Amino acid sequence: MASSPLLGRHALVTGASRGIGAAIARMLAQEGATLTLLGRTAAPLQALAEELGPAHGFACADIADAAQLQAAIAAARDARGPILVLVNNAGQAESAPFGRTSADLWQRMLAVNLTGCFTCTQAVLADMRAARHGRIVNIASTAAQRGYAYVSAYVAAKHGVLGLTRALALELAAEGITVNAVCPGYTETEILRESIDKVVAKTGRSVEAARAEFSRFNPQGRFVQPEDVADAVRWLCGDGAASITGQAISVSGGEVM
Ligand code: NAP
Repeated sequence: MASSPLLGRHALVTGASRGIGAAIARMLAQEGATLTLLGRTAAPLQALAEELGPAHGFACADIADAAQLQAAIAAARDARGPILVLVNNAGQAESAPFGRTSADLWQRMLAVNLTGCFTCTQAVLADMRAARHGRIVNIASTAAQRGYAYVSAYVAAKHGVLGLTRALALELAAEGITVNAVCPGYTETEILRESIDKVVAKTGRSVEAARAEFSRFNPQGRFVQPEDVADAVRWLCGDGAASITGQAISVSGGEVM
């Protein structure tokens, strides 16, 4: 860790209280980064920040509320310095057949999964530009690389995240800032458990049958683990990935190639 390029760098991870975000936060902390953990619920963020150590902190904001988010990011900067690593991870995946996708659900999925990335990125960009160094990693999804039925709003938002990633990568390429997307397949977290519960409730299938329905998408026949995703993020945040920008790294056991 002594030679880690992340040593002392302030990294903001959104949606860091559990699942993929918590795994990313733990891995970046191991690499020496100083973390701000962001989410809506204080208790699990505080518990994780305490687990990571006194250099780290947390901030509460709804990613869909731009004013709240900007205020939380400004306070994090005041507390721990300029933000040079941003992991846009907070997300939600609500399902509905397209015909029953209300305008409200549509807007919610765009606000949380896509506009949140926009707001956070705008809020930290001046820090990265001043340092002529930055790492932005957007946790998209295989739903940014292919379609899935019954989650059109989520899929559209995640495709948008990939578009934002590619456009911004080009705009910032000459400034020492890389912008990449990590695209997990079905990953063993709360979001997946909720989807499985919904299938069980709607179809009367067993939990095992519902799990098999999701895991069959992955050619490895298993669910991706949060640490698999975190390791790709760790690599993208390091100096070894300086030439990697505008990419969509699929962490999906070969589901997308
Ligand atoms: P998760 O376990 O449900 O965790 C989601 C995190 O986001 C939590 O920390 C949650 O904290 C936070 N969050 C949710 N809504 C928020 C909001 N409005 N404002 C601020 N924070 C919010 O989900 P996960 O599976 O780890 O997902 C993380 C990311 O990976 C998401 O972008 C998701 O789309 C993506 N992904 C997941 C999978 C999968 O199968 N699990 C696959 C592909 C992509 P609070 O509730 O306290 O706010």
